[in-house]
Amino acid sequence: MLTANAYGATSPTEPLAPLTVERRDVGPHDVLIDIKYCGICHSDIHTVRGEWGEIQYPLVPGHEIAGVVAAVGLAVTSHAVGDRVGVGCMVDSCRECASCRDGEEQYCLPGNTLTYGSIGQDGTITQGGYATQVVVTEDFVVKIPDGLELDVAAPLLCAGITTYSPLRHWGAGPGRQVAVVGLGGLGHMAVKLAHAMGAEVTVLSQSLRKKDDGLRLGADHYHATSDPSTFEELAGRFDLIINTVSAKVDINAFLGLLAVDGALVNVGAPAEALPVNVFSLLPKRRAFAGSMIGGIRETQEMLDFCAEHGIAPEIELVSADEVNDAWERVLASDVRYRFVIDTATLG
Ligand code: NAP
Ligand code: ZN
Ligand code: ZN
Repeated sequence: MLTANAYGATSPTEPLAPLTVERRDVGPHDVLIDIKYCGICHSDIHTVRGEWGEIQYPLVPGHEIAGVVAAVGLAVTSHAVGDRVGVGCMVDSCRECASCRDGEEQYCLPGNTLTYGSIGQDGTITQGGYATQVVVTEDFVVKIPDGLELDVAAPLLCAGITTYSPLRHWGAGPGRQVAVVGLGGLGHMAVKLAHAMGAEVTVLSQSLRKKDDGLRLGADHYHATSDPSTFEELAGRFDLIINTVSAKVDINAFLGLLAVDGALVNVGAPAEALPVNVFSLLPKRRAFAGSMIGGIRETQEMLDFCAEHGIAPEIELVSADEVNDAWERVLASDVRYRFVIDTATLG
């Protein structure tokens, strides 16, 4: 076993603090990664604060991991020491169920192993990427293409794939009207990706505060949801709406913005229910759906797409002792547009 320096939670309410985590020995199929950067996802906050259910502490969050391979097990064929690699929200799955066979390990039927807060191969609780090192089975490690710096690659491992997957699945592309609700970590990636796929992109944000940014990121239109006329003006407009909001919103108001056969895909994961009035759906055969991250194969495809199209998130690098402040800023919708931890500061 090896000991990694980390930053984690000891309770749902106290600030994160320095601690150490044990990583399992590098098994035949394992890769030891020196973590260089880890993004801060709003899911880290929901999880640690117990909003999605009780968890065990201490917990080290972080599932937007970018680093360099430091060692490989004897049977590893797909990665070598020195490779630039990434790990996202999952570190294992059953590999046998219909979802896994389809490359959609995020929907593994018996349940996959999450990067933090799951039971890992060694029977202990998995601990995430706010840490200096991690050991992961080779099939759940992806390659960071040349041309993508490691610091900006990190947020692609969750924010990137979580928006890429539904945009692909629901066919964002030329001639399609796509709206993105919430311009945070996921939202700004959705705008960049949908624009690169050729869709006409509209941002629906709480205010017009970030309008210049939104247009610069690739949006064609930008509207404030605090302005009631937005919902009148855009009624029936969109083929696809990606809702990235981390809090409860009036989902029926947004469903009213869908065209015939349009779909509203919720990737935001507030703990509160989002009650749907069926009459928001029936008259235009609208769909209300959810989507969770993406499979390993699709994650690699997304990274390659980003490298090819010169797409990278806008990040603010933070040191370990700035993580608690960064969390507060995420909660205040004051993120532009993803915080990334420089793990060299973990000691
Ligand atoms: P984030 O950076 O905090 O962005 C969320 C954005 O939502 C904010 O920037 C803000 O945008 C808007 N917002 C926040 N509070 C709001 C409120 N009360 N009313 C209306 N709008 C509000 O968070 P994130 O990291 O992108 O994550 C977003 C959500 O997706 C979280 O719930 C997270 O857990 C979830 N998530 C899901 C998956 C998945 O697989 N489905 C993966 C990753 C994350 P504006 O300021 O522009 O309004
Ligand atoms: Zn995430
Ligand atoms: Zn499976």
